[in-house]
Amino acid sequence: MEGATYDLIVIGSGPAGEKGAAKAAYFGKKVALVEEASGYGGAVASTGVPGKAMRETALYLSGFLQRDLHGLTLSYDGSLTVDRFMHRGRTVRQALDQWIGANLDRHHVDVHHGRATFVDAHTISVEGATGSRLLEGAVILIATGSTPNRPPTIPFGEPNVYDSDTIQRMERLPRSLAIAGGGTIGCEYACLFKVLGLDEVWIINSGQRILPFADEEISSLLREAMAALGVLFHTPDSVERVKAGPPLTLDLRSGTRLEADAVLVALGRRGNVAALSLENAGVRLDEHGLIPVNEHFQTNVPHIYAAGDVIGGHALASTAMEEGRMAMGHAFDLKYKSGVGPFLPIGIWTIPEISMVGETEQGLRAKGVAHVVGRWRYDANPRGMLIGEQWGLLKLLFSLPEEKLLGVHVIGDNACELIAAGLVAMTLGATCSTFIDTCFNYPSLSDLYKYAAYDAMGRMDRGDVYRP
Ligand SMILES: Cc1cc2nc3c(=O)[nH]c(=O)nc-3n(C[C@H](O)[C@H](O)[C@H](O)COP(=O)(O)OP(=O)(O)OC[C@H]3O[C@@H](n4cnc5c(N)ncnc54)[C@H](O)[C@@H]3O)c2cc1C
Repeated sequence: MEGATYDLIVIGSGPAGEKGAAKAAYFGKKVALVEEASGYGGAVASTGVPGKAMRETALYLSGFLQRDLHGLTLSYDGSLTVDRFMHRGRTVRQALDQWIGANLDRHHVDVHHGRATFVDAHTISVEGATGSRLLEGAVILIATGSTPNRPPTIPFGEPNVYDSDTIQRMERLPRSLAIAGGGTIGCEYACLFKVLGLDEVWIINSGQRILPFADEEISSLLREAMAALGVLFHTPDSVERVKAGPPLTLDLRSGTRLEADAVLVALGRRGNVAALSLENAGVRLDEHGLIPVNEHFQTNVPHIYAAGDVIGGHALASTAMEEGRMAMGHAFDLKYKSGVGPFLPIGIWTIPEISMVGETEQGLRAKGVAHVVGRWRYDANPRGMLIGEQWGLLKLLFSLPEEKLLGVHVIGDNACELIAAGLVAMTLGATCSTFIDTCFNYPSLSDLYKYAAYDAMGRMDRGDVYRP
C-alpha cells in the first residue's frame, strides 16, 4: 500500500501536537496530524480546562470568595446533579475543540482520525473507524501525551474509584472523597470538592510536604489554607489497599483505615508510548518509559522529534506548546526563535491558587547562593483587602550582591495572572530596583511587587539575608 507523503506527520492534537503542526504549516510545510480521540486538544482540553471550569462553578455556587466580605455564609446545598455542575466544563471543552479544529483547518493541516503506529522510521499506519492507511513523513513529531498511573493495588473497575481522566464522569457528588497523592492534581481536586461542600476530603501523600517542588513557605501556607477549608491530611502515608464498597475501605500504610464514598488516585502520569510500536522506528525510551530528547527535541532518530508530556518534565500545557513549536523550528530551520523561554512558570489552581517561576528559597540554600527574600501580603495591599484574600502572599528572591531577581512565588487570588509581571521581569534581567522604579496601578495586586521589593531592601539594610 503506497502512503500519502508529507513534510511532517504529527501524532496527537494536544498542546504540543497542535502548536507544532500549526507552526510548520504556517511556514508552508505539508502537514498531517493523527488523532485517536474523538475531540481535539488532548488532556488539557478534555480534563484540564473543564476542571478549571468546575472550579469556577464551585466558587460561584458556594459564594466562596465573597462569603466573609459580605458577612454571608453560603454553601452548596447538595441538590445540584454532577451533570449540571459539569455544564460549564462541557461548554468550554466544546469551544476548545472548535478552536483547535479551526486552527488546523486554517493552516491546511490534513487531519487523520485513528491510532498511529510506526511501520518504519518514516511510515505511520493509521487505524481508524473507516479502515487503515499509511502516511509517509520526512519529519515526525510524537506528541502523544500521558495517561494517569494506575497502581495494581487499586481496584479501578469498581464503582466510585477514579483517576484524573475519569473523575469528571462521576454521576453523583459523594459525601466523602479520599485522594491518593498530594501533587498538583490531588490538591486542585481536594480544594474544589471541599468548596463544593463535601463532608470529608482526605489527602494521603507519601511525603510530609504537599507540592514538594514548590517553595516550602508557599506549600506550607497552602496546606494551612486547605486545612482551614476542612481538607484532612494523612502525611507521610500511602494507600496500601482499597476494598470495594460502598463505602470503599482504604487501608493506609500507617494502619489507619478510612471509609470513603469515592477515591481519586492522582499518583503521577506515564507517557503514551505503548501503541506506537516505537521499536519499528528505532526510537529508544528511558527507564521511566518516557522518550528522551536533546535540546532540539530530537529523539535518538534525528528526524523523529518528541514534545510535551511524553518527554517528561513538569507536564504542563504551556510548556508543551512551546516545545512543539521549538521542535518544528529546528526540524525545518525556521527563523523563529532560538529556544523555549529561559524561565517556565507553573500555575496550580488550588484554592487559593499558586504560581511560581525560577528558584525556590530552599533551592538557593541547597546551591549555596547568597540571596535576600522580599515578601508582601495581600492583606497589607489595598486591592488584596478589597477582595478579602486572607492567605495571599507575594515572595521575591534576589541574588546578592547583584540584587537580580531569581524567583517569584505567589499564593492567593489571581496568582496565575500576577506571576506574569515577575516572569517578564526575570526574562529581562530585572533587579530589586526595577520594581522600586516602576509605578503600578493603585489599588492593584501588581503593587505587591513594589512593596515586596521594599521589604527586600529593608532586609538588606538590616543584614537579614542568606549568605552561605
Ligand atoms: C486534570 C489535569 C489538569 C491539568 N491542568 C493544567 C493546567 O491548568 N495548566 C497546564 O498548563 N497544564 C495542565 N495540565 C497538564 C496538561 O494537560 C498537559 O501537560 C498537556 O495536555 C500535555 O500536552 P501534550 O500535547 O503533550 O499531550 P496531550 O494533551 O495528552 O495530548 C496527546 C494527544 O495524543 C493523542 N494520542 C495518543 N496516542 C496516540 C496515537 N497512538 N495515535 C493518535 N493519537 C494519539 C491523544 O488522544 C491526545 O489527544 C493538566 C492535566 C490534567 C490531567
